[in-house]
Amino acid sequence: MPKIAVVEKKKCHPVACGGHLCAKLCPVNRTGKDCITWYEDNKAKIDEQLCTGCGICPKRCPFGAISIINLPEELSSRPIHRYGRNGFHLYNLPVPVFGKVVGLLGQNAIGKSTVVKILAGLLKPNLGGDDDATFDQLADYFKGSEAQGFFEKLKEKKIKISYKPQQVDAIPKMYKGNVRGLLTKVNETERIDEVVDALDLKNVLGTDIKDISGGELQRVAIAATVLKKANVYFFDEPSSYLDIKQRIKVSKFIKSLADENTSVLVVEHDLIILDYMTDIIHIMFGKPGVYGIVSLPKVTRNGINIYMEGYMRDMNMRFRGYSLRFDPRPSVSKEGLPALTSWEHITAKLGNFSLKAENGTVNIKKNIGILGENGIGKTTFVRILAGVLKPDTGEIAEKVKVSYKPQYLDSSSTDVVASLLGDAVNKYENQLIKPLDIEPLLLRPLNELSGGELQRVSICYCLAQDADLYLLDEPSAYLDVEQRLIISKVVNDVAEQRGCSVMVVDHDLMFIDYLSDELIVFEGVPAKCGEAKGPFDMEEGMNLFLTDLDITMRRDRETNRPRINKPGSRMDQEQKEKNRLYYS
Ligand code: ADP
Ligand code: ADP
Ligand code: MG
Repeated sequence: MPKIAVVEKKKCHPVACGGHLCAKLCPVNRTGKDCITWYEDNKAKIDEQLCTGCGICPKRCPFGAISIINLPEELSSRPIHRYGRNGFHLYNLPVPVFGKVVGLLGQNAIGKSTVVKILAGLLKPNLGGDDDATFDQLADYFKGSEAQGFFEKLKEKKIKISYKPQQVDAIPKMYKGNVRGLLTKVNETERIDEVVDALDLKNVLGTDIKDISGGELQRVAIAATVLKKANVYFFDEPSSYLDIKQRIKVSKFIKSLADENTSVLVVEHDLIILDYMTDIIHIMFGKPGVYGIVSLPKVTRNGINIYMEGYMRDMNMRFRGYSLRFDPRPSVSKEGLPALTSWEHITAKLGNFSLKAENGTVNIKKNIGILGENGIGKTTFVRILAGVLKPDTGEIAEKVKVSYKPQYLDSSSTDVVASLLGDAVNKYENQLIKPLDIEPLLLRPLNELSGGELQRVSICYCLAQDADLYLLDEPSAYLDVEQRLIISKVVNDVAEQRGCSVMVVDHDLMFIDYLSDELIVFEGVPAKCGEAKGPFDMEEGMNLFLTDLDITMRRDRETNRPRINKPGSRMDQEQKEKNRLYYS
């Protein structure tokens, strides 16, 4: 059986474990051979040939940095790529299909961006060796498969690629000037006005790149990608920072790119959007940070259901020990639950923006989802409830103790995670630390965490405070599907066990649906005025919200997950006639 030994360098702390504990314990080392030694950076180095797979080092490493994996027999033993010896291994590749939007679905650190970079020609695969593979080696490796054709065409320059990277935050560092300047510079088409229109960028054309919001930056990046003349487009996480209205708009736009000469590949964690945007998907599974395997293509609906189930029939492979069952929250009657806080006739003016909230009540043990466009006052409202901001009129009836996780996380501190969390590490071991997988991060400095790691730590920190009301502003950002579902479970448990309330602002509708008992819906005009309505029960709130979006949704027969109806389909029309836009 093919065996790989991977050391996740970020997790390896060769001094804190007492000095290369793995090497001290290794039975092969004890016979005088050099199975486990170390690299120049002092991190563990494992010789895959000498390793017997005894299982002692992965079990005993206090930081879980080592994985010795016996791969499934049917994998061709050579990976497509590995990041150096004892580094992450990638197996198989998806192939772009002309006329289709292909999706890539998998956990964080399972290799999705690596796949995209290889196909986009930005990363030369090494086929598991120490050097880049040549085009001929690749052609030989893929002989007889669809990928062979793809790499041959790439070599002959018959395929031209355009790529939107995952990290749009890097763009302001690379380009100085306004939005119009950037788009004009990259433009190779006649479509600039059409693209600006489709992505709602008219109002920001004159704005400096360094001053635009995250959601605007994302749409500028998508526009720039599309304005390059190409026949294969890659979008790595295009929905980040976008509100739901923009996600749907962007999805329609990306869908419209695929034709007989053009193919599109997207990585996406918002399952409703992935479902809506793609025709087929590849599932990626394996062990995050260690190895990733790309599945054969599946029709999207079926593929997402397989992903949630955690079992792949065609490979007879269970890749997760449990299924991500999607059970909608039972509707609990509000009667009898005491009110935690309420508000009346709130107004506030900030610059050109005015906020209004007539009246509403938050009951204890209730999770309230907050939905609305970017720039419509959600964060402002949350800050008023938290007492950080004083409204111009109206008041909050009951001053409650609030713990608040802001939307933008501060990552400048060099403190380690353990010192930020303090005694919460022991106090909430089962409620927070274990489910949020914080343990491996404890010794890491905050400024070295990835977006998803920092998000988990921030959520943990917020929920570890003593409070009556917890406010989480966009907790799903940077998290993968599994992590989003875990967060919603953790939030439910915290509300239930501590008898507190939780309010969550988010743009992932499935996440909100999974987590909320009630909804607050924002209406208005972004950057001008916004009004908070509700809390409503789920059905009423979703109906109000979806009316504005002009879409209807149903639940999937097998998994109960929410799906967007095809516009104009029978279901879409029927639900609109009955005015039941939400999952009837
Ligand atoms: P995803 O996009 O699914 O989150 P990536 O493809 O970005 O995953 O990364 C997969 C794994 O490869 C991660 O563990 C990451 O740390 C590792 N990795 C990515 N780039 C490099 C690199 N240049 N050198 C070493 N390891 C890397
Ligand atoms: P959301 O959270 O829904 O995206 P926000 O509450 O952050 O929206 O912002 C609503 C509007 O108020 C935005 O147009 C924003 O630019 C504006 N705004 C927020 N804070 C201030 C402030 N301190 N001064 C002036 N304008 C502000
Ligand atoms: Mg990625």
